[in-house]
Amino acid sequence: MKSLHPIPLFADNYAWLLTDAATGAVGVVDPADAGPVIEAVAAGPGRLDLILLTHHHADHVAGAEAVKARFGAAIVGASADRHRLPPLDRAVAEGDAVALGASRARVLATPGHTRGHIAFFFDDFSGEGPLLVAGDTLFSLGCGRLLEGTAEEMFASLAKLSALPGGTLLAAGHEYTAANGRFARTVEPENAALARRLEEVARLRAAGLPSLPVRLAEEFAANPFLRARDAASFARLRAAKDAFKG
Ligand code: ZN
Ligand code: FE
Repeated sequence: MKSLHPIPLFADNYAWLLTDAATGAVGVVDPADAGPVIEAVAAGPGRLDLILLTHHHADHVAGAEAVKARFGAAIVGASADRHRLPPLDRAVAEGDAVALGASRARVLATPGHTRGHIAFFFDDFSGEGPLLVAGDTLFSLGCGRLLEGTAEEMFASLAKLSALPGGTLLAAGHEYTAANGRFARTVEPENAALARRLEEVARLRAAGLPSLPVRLAEEFAANPFLRARDAASFARLRAAKDAFKG
């Protein structure tokens, strides 16, 4: 997708730069480190309209105000968490629509990693197909840790994402894929889709490239956290991953 670019931040975070081709409108997701984000916007589109925040953690929001001060963009985040997010220009909740030029996102409440976590689903981003901005709810081959929510809440959040089209591109908040894959392999050692994905990830990372975005169809086939049948098996899987030393 030409309109979608990861901006690597810190050790393994991604901010995502979104450009709506029809209008030239530009958004950035989770600009936690202002320096590299300002650099990427200045060197690229040269304008910024929207700052989308998935959740309140510092490694997702810390640079938002500085980026806004530089480009004048509007900050959009969860109304449930507005007391602990940077000052919001727009507070949103489940079902709200957010427009980036001609591209429209629907807000999905995805509690689990944090209570107020949200994701953004574009059914056709920039004319290039569906896009899911998932923050720390869903990673490639993994999912976020349960820092505030329960296993039941996270299972329901992941079930909501599992209902999205397989052709959807997943833009997640961290480059955790290789480490997630080491755990996933212990859960489903015979899974051929997982084995293929692990090979692809090894090749991409060896070349210094991001493992994201990835199509949800690949995650449906390979990500054990999306393949858990019920909340109880999800909870066991999550606990095993937390204890995994891989
Ligand atoms: Zn987080
Ligand atoms: Fe994070």
